Amino acid sequence: MTTTCLDAALSYAGDFGWEVFPCHSVQDGVCTCRKGKGCSEPGKHPRTRHGHQDATTDAKDIGAWWRCYPTANVAIRTGQASDIIVLDIDPRHGGDDSLQSLQDRLGPLPEHPVAETGGGGTHRLFKHPGDRVAGRQAIMPGIDIRGDGNYIVAPVSVHQSGRRYRWRKDAAEVGPPNLPYPWLFFLPTPNAHRDIDTQRHRTSSARVPGVSGGLGGLRDCCSVEEALQKALLATLPTGPGQRHDLLFRFARYLKSYPAFAQAPVSSMQPYVREWYTAATQFTRTQPFEDFWFDFAEGWDKVTTPMGTGAMKDMIERAKVATPPARAAKEYTHPQLLCLICLCRELQVQAGDSPFYLSIRTAGEAVGISARTAATWLNGLVVDRYLIREKAADKSKRKAAFYRYTGD
Ligand SMILES: [Zn+2]
Repeated sequence: MTTTCLDAALSYAGDFGWEVFPCHSVQDGVCTCRKGKGCSEPGKHPRTRHGHQDATTDAKDIGAWWRCYPTANVAIRTGQASDIIVLDIDPRHGGDDSLQSLQDRLGPLPEHPVAETGGGGTHRLFKHPGDRVAGRQAIMPGIDIRGDGNYIVAPVSVHQSGRRYRWRKDAAEVGPPNLPYPWLFFLPTPNAHRDIDTQRHRTSSARVPGVSGGLGGLRDCCSVEEALQKALLATLPTGPGQRHDLLFRFARYLKSYPAFAQAPVSSMQPYVREWYTAATQFTRTQPFEDFWFDFAEGWDKVTTPMGTGAMKDMIERAKVATPPARAAKEYTHPQLLCLICLCRELQVQAGDSPFYLSIRTAGEAVGISARTAATWLNGLVVDRYLIREKAADKSKRKAAFYRYTGD
C-alpha cells in the first residue's frame, strides 16, 4: 500500500519502468506554486524546469527531488518513454458515454489499469503501440489522449478538490494491455480548433455522444474535420473482410455532408487515405490503391447518402408510431418498442414479401449497438413478433429476412 507520492514515484519507476517527475501540489485548495490562488492548473504542473523531459526511473534522482519538495505531486511521463498511452476520460464532457458507445460498437476493452483523478475523471492505461502517438484533445466528447510528449498526474497526488488520485485497478493487478482498436489513437480530432466553451456546448446538446454518425448522416456537422471524424468512427472495420461494405458506407456518409454531395471522387482521396491509415495502422498488408479504387467505384453509385431515402422516412414514422398493445404491455425499453414499429413499417413497405433488416441498420435506427440489435431481433422472433424467414448469411454479408407478425 503506497502512502506518499515519493513511495508511489519509486514504485512506478522501479516496478513498472514508468518515468516520473514531481509536480506542484495542492494545499488547502491552492497550488503550491508562486501564483497560488491565481494558478490555472493547481497541482498539475511540473516542479522541475523541463517538466516531463526531466522524467526518470532513477531512484536516486527521485529521492533527491522529494527531499527538496516533500509534498510534491507525482506525474508519470506518457508515451514511448514509459511504454504507455493514456485515455483521459472526463465525464463532465460526456467521456463515460463516449467510452460506453465505443465499446458497444467495437467490443469491450480488456482489463486495464484505471486511476481515478480527484475530480471525477479516470485515466486508463494502455500499452504504447510503437508508432509515435501525439496527444490529442477530444477525439470523442470527453476523451483526450495522452501520448508522446505528455504526462499524467498520478496517484497518490492531491487534486484541486482536496481528494487524492487513487487506483481503481493498479498495474500490479493488471498490466497495460494493447488497445484492441489502436487506430483510435490516430483519429483526426474534429474539435482541435474550438475553444472549450464551444466544445462543452456541443457535447451537452448532442443527443447520442460518440461513435456513430447515426443514420441521420453528417448534415449537421460544423466542419469538414467533424464530418470526417464521424464518418470514420461509424465505418472503421472491427474485423477482417469488411472493407468493401464499409468503404461504401463511408462513401454514403461523406456524401451526406453537403459540401461533398456533388464533389468529384478525385477530391475524396485525402479522406480515403485517412480511412486507410486508421484501418490499416497495424495491418499494412494491402496497398492503398486497393482501397482507393474500391471507394472510387462506389462513390458514383451512392444514390442514397446516409440519412436520406425511404429508410430514413420509415425510421421517422416508427419513432412517432404507437406500438402494438401487446408489446406496450410486455416491454419497457422505448428503443425496443421503436424497433417493433420499424419492423411494422418495413412490412407495410414490403407488402406480402418478407423484408430484410441488418443488425447494424436496426441498431443505428433506434440508437443501440448492433450486438444489442441482434439480441433484440432474436427475442422478437422468440416472442412471435417476427418470423425469421431466412437467416443472415455472413459469408455473403446478406442481412436476415423477417416477416412481421406483431399485430
Ligand atoms: Zn500552480
